Amino acid sequence: MTETDDTVRMEELTWQAFEDRIDDGPVFVPIGSTEQHGPHLPLSVDTVIAIEIAERTAHEAGGMVAPPLHYGYTSQPGSGGGPEFVATTSVHGDTLRRQVGNIVADLARDGVREFVIVNGHFENEYAIREAIDRHLENGLDDRFVIASWWDLLSASTRGPIFENVPGGFPGWEAEHAGVVETSLMLYLRPDLVDEDAIVDDGSSRNPPYVLKPAPEDTIPDSGVFYKATHATAETGERVLMEVVEVLANAIEDEWGT
Ligand SMILES: [Zn+2]
Repeated sequence: MTETDDTVRMEELTWQAFEDRIDDGPVFVPIGSTEQHGPHLPLSVDTVIAIEIAERTAHEAGGMVAPPLHYGYTSQPGSGGGPEFVATTSVHGDTLRRQVGNIVADLARDGVREFVIVNGHFENEYAIREAIDRHLENGLDDRFVIASWWDLLSASTRGPIFENVPGGFPGWEAEHAGVVETSLMLYLRPDLVDEDAIVDDGSSRNPPYVLKPAPEDTIPDSGVFYKATHATAETGERVLMEVVEVLANAIEDEWGT
């Protein structure tokens, strides 16, 4: 028994240990971003959450977690503030699509047949799907679960979280650096949350269409798109537990592993 027997992190394994475990379960690929998340959260929020969900699910359902992608598809004004914020550093959709495609192709060549892509950044979703679509065009029998974590949260868990928030649930694109992301970080990495800097904010208007360049009044100055003061570590724990359970059950239900 060595220390690495317990790890699910691919990067901590030797190539032989990786090879020994290829048939033991899926390989998880966490994909995040480097994006502003208001004055109270670090740039790594989307990546941290994706990694934690992937690792906890792998401990429950089996499998290994590939090294995460720290850069995501270009941040958009209505769901993260866009590139106007200093420090937000993104890659184009085509770059992300190729990165995901290259990584999956290499792992598939090694013999990995089941992949769980855990997405933490709203804008990544369709670049990831396109990468997988193109991979499968080669007629392979590889199988994929692609999950953006917020989609795994049930209405019955989401309801009470926003019950006492004036305005209720605003939609996930507008929840950027808001109640749930702040709650998850308070639970997972309180050392990275500046609690004194937590604010409620939002843009003064949300037109039902996209304007480019984005007018200033459609982006909140703070970078917080919703009411982050309603965040708690307890909410973060509840969200995380459900998301991990739903994802572990999905792997079992879809693939019977
Ligand atoms: Zn985020």
